[in-house]
Amino acid sequence: MIEELDHFIDGVAVPGNSGRFGPIFDPATGEVRARLPLADAAEVDAAVIAAQRALPAWAATPALARARILFRFKQALEREAGALAALVSAEHGKVLSDARGSVQRGIEVVEFVCGVPHLLKGEFSAGVGADMDLFSLRQPVGVCVGITPFNFPAMVPMWMFPVAIACGNTFVLKPSEKVPSCSLRLAELMIEAGLPPGVLNVLGGDAEAVDLLLTHPVVRAVSFVGSTLVARHVYATGAAAGKRVQALAGAKNHLVVMPDADLDQTVDALMGAAYGSAGERCMAVPVAVAVGAIADPLVERLEKRVRALKIGPATDAQAEMGPLVSAEHRAKVAGYVDLGVREGAELVVDGRGVVLQGWERGFFLGGSLFDRVTPAMRIYQEEIFGPVLAVVRAQGLDEALALIAGNRFGNGAAVFTRSGAAARAFADRAEAGMIGVNVAIPVPLAFHSFGGWKQSLFGDHAIHGAEGVRFYTRPKTVTSRWPRDGEASSGAGFAMPTFG
Ligand code: NAD
Repeated sequence: MIEELDHFIDGVAVPGNSGRFGPIFDPATGEVRARLPLADAAEVDAAVIAAQRALPAWAATPALARARILFRFKQALEREAGALAALVSAEHGKVLSDARGSVQRGIEVVEFVCGVPHLLKGEFSAGVGADMDLFSLRQPVGVCVGITPFNFPAMVPMWMFPVAIACGNTFVLKPSEKVPSCSLRLAELMIEAGLPPGVLNVLGGDAEAVDLLLTHPVVRAVSFVGSTLVARHVYATGAAAGKRVQALAGAKNHLVVMPDADLDQTVDALMGAAYGSAGERCMAVPVAVAVGAIADPLVERLEKRVRALKIGPATDAQAEMGPLVSAEHRAKVAGYVDLGVREGAELVVDGRGVVLQGWERGFFLGGSLFDRVTPAMRIYQEEIFGPVLAVVRAQGLDEALALIAGNRFGNGAAVFTRSGAAARAFADRAEAGMIGVNVAIPVPLAFHSFGGWKQSLFGDHAIHGAEGVRFYTRPKTVTSRWPRDGEASSGAGFAMPTFG
């Protein structure tokens, strides 16, 4: 019997009623491990209405009381971190150490919003006019929606709902239909922590549920993380329906290797960033820009390391890289390796033939390495989202920066160098939202904000940190005057009021 998952609406598990289901695979075995109900209009409506009903009381709950619930949620997450990581690996396929790190990054967002009373403190100007004060505060926006991708089943949902809920909003989460179990478990843990029913709801669903949520009249704000094509659609549709939207999208991050870089450190960093999580990270590094004479020794060392990559299921403690998320995605990534060969790039290591004994039906693919990739090639321009690293050769820092500027994506960019001047110029001029200096995966901590530039983010706000708090709150300013006892009216004023 294949397990059937539920929605989570108004504090309880609710079985699907649409008659539509999606399969959830174990990527290591290729077998279906569960099936997920895919929400229809009635179920989307039920979740949104539950969030709407819970909103007034939750928004009126003191921020300190909301923070205490989040603190208990953080304790539950710490207790359950191992189980959550196992759930991430089971549905996504990434190795356990990697899954644990991603759960920890999610917990850190909850830690950040445990201080939400401080984050929501407004501004006050006393005596701006006679007996007059002016203050600014931030209030919740209302019912918020989160739509999340397959590659971070725990972390990306926790980029969103803890911040929204801490700020006094209620939330409907629509996780990737490939990896929904973590989100359902997180909602249970929130209830255990004392969250009132209806404040956090989780819907199983696909594009149909997304489109219904984007135009639902009750929804005020939409956070999206996923591919660029869908992000653009979510941004345009949500904005046209009058919603506040932040849509984080695809990436093609460059790591520039300057001629003076420490090769051992650079190769270690590149291996983890290109092949960790089988390249299925929006902050992965699929492009290494080798500047000057470092290219040959860099490729030589990378080749040895890529050939030695340990590939295996998440249950194998020695494995460095697991399978891809689905058979379709595996075929798509392998298709890009075919394309690179046709486009004339030099295939130094070919991961297409890798077969794991005992796991033949899993979605495994070996690591591939291309050299002499050029900006004209599609394997350079497009997001592959798999274990494929392209080396592009450049003459100098200016050429490397021009490559980054010319690429349609702008999530992250990194430089490896021993020169402070080169690092400083790179941080200043690189056309990307998140920069690493001798750090290959510069994912900001929760108290800073995460977000890219260009086609890596549609909307004005990055996620979590101060930007997240701004996204999930509306500013309000109050100008207040208390006339003195017995003060006579100064009469009607028809000129634009001025003070001070
Ligand atoms: P995806 O765009 O296929 O799916 C993301 C979400 O959108 C899912 O919940 C899915 O159900 C929904 N969806 C899919 N197609 C839709 C459609 N046509 N209309 C409406 N909704 C739709 O992305 P994915 O494959 O799950 O995730 C991988 C992508 O996410 C990569 O492009 C990666 O770079 C990106 N990503 C970006 C960031 C970032 O912070 N910029 C972080 C993680 C992942």
